[in-house]
Amino acid sequence: MSKPVVAIVGRPNVGKSTLFNALAGEKIAIVKDTPGVTRDRIYAEVNWLDKEFTLIDTGGIEPDSRDVILSQMREQAQIAIDTADVILFMTDVKQGLVDSDSKVADMLRRSHKPVILVVNKVDNFNKMMPDVYEFYNLGIGDPVPISASERIGIGDMLDKVLAYFPEGAGQEEEDDRPRVAIVGKPNVGKSSIINRLIGKDRVIVSDIAGTTRDAIDTEVVHNGKEYVFIDTAGLRRKNKIKEELERYSIIRTVTAVERADVVLVVIDAAEGVTEQDAKIAGIAHERGKGVIIVVNKWDAIEKNDKTTREYEHQIRMVLSFLPYAEIMYVSALTGQRLPKLFDMIDTVIENQTLRVATGVLNEIMTEAVAMQQPPSDKGKRLKLYYITQVAVKPPTFVIFVNDKELMHFSYTRYLENKIREAFGFRGTSLKFFIRERK
Ligand code: GDP
Ligand code: GDP
Repeated sequence: MSKPVVAIVGRPNVGKSTLFNALAGEKIAIVKDTPGVTRDRIYAEVNWLDKEFTLIDTGGIEPDSRDVILSQMREQAQIAIDTADVILFMTDVKQGLVDSDSKVADMLRRSHKPVILVVNKVDNFNKMMPDVYEFYNLGIGDPVPISASERIGIGDMLDKVLAYFPEGAGQEEEDDRPRVAIVGKPNVGKSSIINRLIGKDRVIVSDIAGTTRDAIDTEVVHNGKEYVFIDTAGLRRKNKIKEELERYSIIRTVTAVERADVVLVVIDAAEGVTEQDAKIAGIAHERGKGVIIVVNKWDAIEKNDKTTREYEHQIRMVLSFLPYAEIMYVSALTGQRLPKLFDMIDTVIENQTLRVATGVLNEIMTEAVAMQQPPSDKGKRLKLYYITQVAVKPPTFVIFVNDKELMHFSYTRYLENKIREAFGFRGTSLKFFIRERK
């Protein structure tokens, strides 16, 4: 089962961003270093007592007229209901209970999703508790007092969140069928690709046990092998209006990518690669998933002998953080090259789970060090002692050195290239941790 999703819902100014930042902590900094990745804090990975979850801020409410706030709150609550395992419904003890709170509470209650009623800005528990009791009137359970800015009560609140997670959440899904998410902007052809794949092969649309939310999983059998496609496009038909909201499509992408082994990032050939494509691709990259860039509608453009090279150049530039990703030029309309996608998916999954023996890795490193001297600073030179692979999906390596400060990003990149020269690892990112050994 994949990582659980927790969503924060609430009126403007109740303190959603403050709580989000308190929970997201320094993790955001890592995200910021990835070019093309959204800087808007829509989602973050949170770790509490060794349990991990994805936190989403359904945000996006403009404090305008009262009517607009209510309709936007409903929209926001619906997004949370669609995508989250647990909903944090946030209110403000200083503003007290307001009418729109009650309406949203009704909506959340009807969804039968686990909801935790959070009352924020209880900066002084002793003095302010009487004011908290008023929130029992919402009829969605015990109010949980916190102060997001003073960081009071947050631990108790998180304990309540964790209690709702299904058993085994955050662990690997049990079946070993490849899970493939198809993501991309609206209208790039995600549904068409899925339909094509379904049309040719035997398909069971299934309710796969353990999947939460309403992602639509489609089983496709190709050459006797089963694949599970996580179809974000399917969701759109149900939520036509919300598709217009970029925030919603990012949340959907995050939850689909989270559950996938390989992500097909679909790009419209007729339109070319855009910044929005980069944002979406960044989500897969950040999570260390296998990535295949699928340039669709290849039938729709004029081609000459330079076209493919020009497209590749453009893609490598805009998606510069994905040099390892494979690119495929397909057409959902004609079916061109779509069957080849399966081979590519297989290859990427193999690379994601490839393990390289420590001895071989150290030979590569020794040779690399001999060919290019490690960096030095103030007379002290970097020494590399030892490299070993500690994980797969994505392949993750630890390098032991004399002084972490001396290990430049560019030298890590150099070693990565050497490892890639030897083993390819096409389609998957590689992670490196640098540790000191005195
Ligand atoms: P959002 O619109 O729901 O995201 O709300 P913000 O996080 O932007 O917070 C709105 C205002 O409430 C800001 O001025 C915060 O500093 C303030 N605020 C947030 N949490 C607390 C709290 O626990 N106590 C107090 N007194 N103020 C808070
Ligand atoms: P989605 O929003 O990403 O699921 O996109 P759709 O699958 O709904 O496709 C959007 C539009 O692009 C539709 O009008 C499709 O007919 C068209 N389309 C999809 N794939 C292709 C293709 O390979 N070639 C051409 N010419 N049009 C396509």
